[in-house]
Amino acid sequence: MAGTVLISGASVAGPAAAFLLARAGFDVTVVEIAPRRRTGGYAIDFSGPAHLTVLDRMGLLDDLRARATGGRTSRFVDETGRTLFTLPPEFTGGDLELPRAELSELLHGRGGTVGYRYGDTVTALQESPDGVRVSFRQAPTQRFDLVIGADGMHSVVRGLAFAPEPECVTYLGYQVAGWDLPHTGDLGREILLHNRPGTLAGLSADVRDPARADAYALFADPSPDVPRGDREAQHRRLGQRYAGQGWRVPEMLAAFPGATDVYFDQVARVAVPRWSAGRIVLLGDAACGATLSGTGTGLAVVAAYVLARELARTPDHRRAFERYERIIRPYADRCQGGASPAEMLAPAGRMRLRLRDLVLGNPLGRALALRSSGKAAAGPDLDRL
Ligand SMILES: Cc1cc2nc3c(=O)[nH]c(=O)nc-3n(C[C@H](O)[C@H](O)[C@H](O)COP(=O)(O)OP(=O)(O)OC[C@H]3O[C@@H](n4cnc5c(N)ncnc54)[C@H](O)[C@@H]3O)c2cc1C
Repeated sequence: MAGTVLISGASVAGPAAAFLLARAGFDVTVVEIAPRRRTGGYAIDFSGPAHLTVLDRMGLLDDLRARATGGRTSRFVDETGRTLFTLPPEFTGGDLELPRAELSELLHGRGGTVGYRYGDTVTALQESPDGVRVSFRQAPTQRFDLVIGADGMHSVVRGLAFAPEPECVTYLGYQVAGWDLPHTGDLGREILLHNRPGTLAGLSADVRDPARADAYALFADPSPDVPRGDREAQHRRLGQRYAGQGWRVPEMLAAFPGATDVYFDQVARVAVPRWSAGRIVLLGDAACGATLSGTGTGLAVVAAYVLARELARTPDHRRAFERYERIIRPYADRCQGGASPAEMLAPAGRMRLRLRDLVLGNPLGRALALRSSGKAAAGPDLDRL
């Protein structure tokens, strides 16, 4: 079937599905709530045969390889900057690592006929036998044959067509933030990380721009009640959770208000009993997100590929949605099944932190930690489908 498709969300899952559906002859519109393409600069990675096969079939592998960062060592340091232990690049990067913004840019660039609308959002979805009437905050109401919710962990499409957020998203007790700041020139190629019980602060040079650096924060927080997108409230919460800390934390927090793009979210898992309802389907984090699992981006791209392929193969969208979910859900379950890395990255409590340092300071402990993460999850065997 070819027809009109609306995709909500222009990060990774949305633009990947958009480009593949447009290539298959669909008329695709993407609506994104942010005023422009988001440039958050942390690194994402792809690991294993399923990811690489899909990137190859999408015609992206060579371009991505040309942009790969090569991965970076993570160095955990104490208050004075003395090394406690290091983690090899495979902990943060897989077979192919690059900044999220560059992957997003590449996927947008391949979009061809895809129409991107920024600064707008879906406000109502009304399904009828011949399509979905979609109301927007800005644009006039429009009918589409299909709607894809690729709008992340807090998906508006999921909330309108499936279930309210509290029924789908489980908060795991931590919040995470990433932002950019000017580089003072003293950071090398490594990622520097510093813990106090229940908090992790990280700093690294930007892989592309020597004048910029990236800051990370991961912290235990009993109440994730910071209003979404409220930078002042986010800054205040960081100030409370990191109060009195030394190392480079004060300089990182001081730079937060001037950051170009801030990522601030809950560490949470998404579980939705069914990924499609009529002509509406969920994709990426909206369907099966797991913050910090290290698998979300690879899973989102593989899922976008399978969804687009199934829609291109059959004129019956219900069959396509069913096959997509049957193929991807077991893989998503494996990705979500690993231990949440938040507790390992920022153990809450002095004893737990000491124990974590002992485990990760040891090669065997490092190997076990890597194996118990969702990163080891095998993707679907694409040749047998
Ligand atoms: C700037 C940025 C930085 C990130 N940093 C991290 C990180 O440090 N660690 C981590 O684990 N994950 C991070 N993520 C999430 C990571 O990109 C995803 O887990 C993964 O790539 C799957 O992508 P996705 O496209 O399904 O969801 P996401 O990447 O979350 O993208 C969802 C997109 O939908 C848009 N959107 C949200 N609401 C609406 C709405 N109502 N209408 C229209 N559009 C909407 C968002 O602006 C975003 O562009 C980040 C995402 C972004 C956008």
